[in-house]
Amino acid sequence: MELKISPEYIQTSLAASLTLGLQQGSFHRNAKLKGLNLLLHYEEGCLGRCHFCGLSRSRREGQKGKTFIRVDWPIYMLREIIEKSKMKDQIHRVCISMITHPKALEDTLYIIQRFKEETNLFISVLIAPTLVHDESSLKAMKKAGADRIGIAIDAATPKLFDQLRGRGVGGPHRWEHYWDVVRMAIGIFGKSYVGIHLIVGLGETEKEMVETIQKGQDMGAHTHLFSFYPEKGSPMENHSPPPLSQYRRIQLVRWIMNEALGSADQMKFDETGRLVDFGMEVSPLIQHGEPFMTSGCPGRDGKVACNRPYGNERPSGPIRNFPFMPEPQDVEEIRDQLGIE
Ligand code: SF4
Repeated sequence: MELKISPEYIQTSLAASLTLGLQQGSFHRNAKLKGLNLLLHYEEGCLGRCHFCGLSRSRREGQKGKTFIRVDWPIYMLREIIEKSKMKDQIHRVCISMITHPKALEDTLYIIQRFKEETNLFISVLIAPTLVHDESSLKAMKKAGADRIGIAIDAATPKLFDQLRGRGVGGPHRWEHYWDVVRMAIGIFGKSYVGIHLIVGLGETEKEMVETIQKGQDMGAHTHLFSFYPEKGSPMENHSPPPLSQYRRIQLVRWIMNEALGSADQMKFDETGRLVDFGMEVSPLIQHGEPFMTSGCPGRDGKVACNRPYGNERPSGPIRNFPFMPEPQDVEEIRDQLGIE
């Protein structure tokens, strides 16, 4: 029996599978997916042991029930995904998520090339930094046709990173190496062409998260923000998502920094590390609504293409990352949720 493994087979997010017509269903509030998120797939799975991740080797369920950032990832032939995506104008970008597996680098290059040759989509790669030892693999990705790189730092402090992804869980990932790869990727792809993923709610304070977003910004990397959601069967299945007010404040901070409207040193925190003052008038930013939309790589129109509808929460809400522009009613709710004067 043929093994359904990458590169000829690949997993898609459930949202991508629905949008390409591979499954039937509709999106809550008519959200439109603009970025196709794909994930490499191997029998052995990911060699990482990250405590919060649905793909972790330390997860109790077998491969079959695995989810990643809370959504199901059905598997299809790469050929089929490419053919279907050609017929969907609403898709601007494809993102290939590597996992930590010995074949992932080679297969990623192959998949980038296939998309480059057969579609007009922009191509991001969410790389597995532990597999990247020097510039050559990043240069090869750029040469093959990728224009942006994502790096999932996820945990906002070196201590949490080590506890949840590194030595604390017997995992292979190292904080310093991840940031070295961010630096390397910026050198090759350019400032603002590299994004870091950060997950709010893994145990960091708001101050720590703000400082890490600033660290990325100072290096030339924008932040793509996620709200922790407990993956069933993962070691963190009983850990609660962060309070909505905390997530809203960090969304606003991310927007202020990545849009270069302000920086961490003007913000004030209380003794628990909670943000109490943005150091600027934020009411017009809240009214704007866009700071609360999903942050991710852009599409042809310069707006976020990787809008990951309901990747972070249940569609029944409340919505944490808005996959569309929040409406006036949403903005009113956001204003209350922020918990600021
Ligand atoms: S923001 Fe989206 S498209 Fe960009 S690297 Fe992350 S997952 Fe991929």
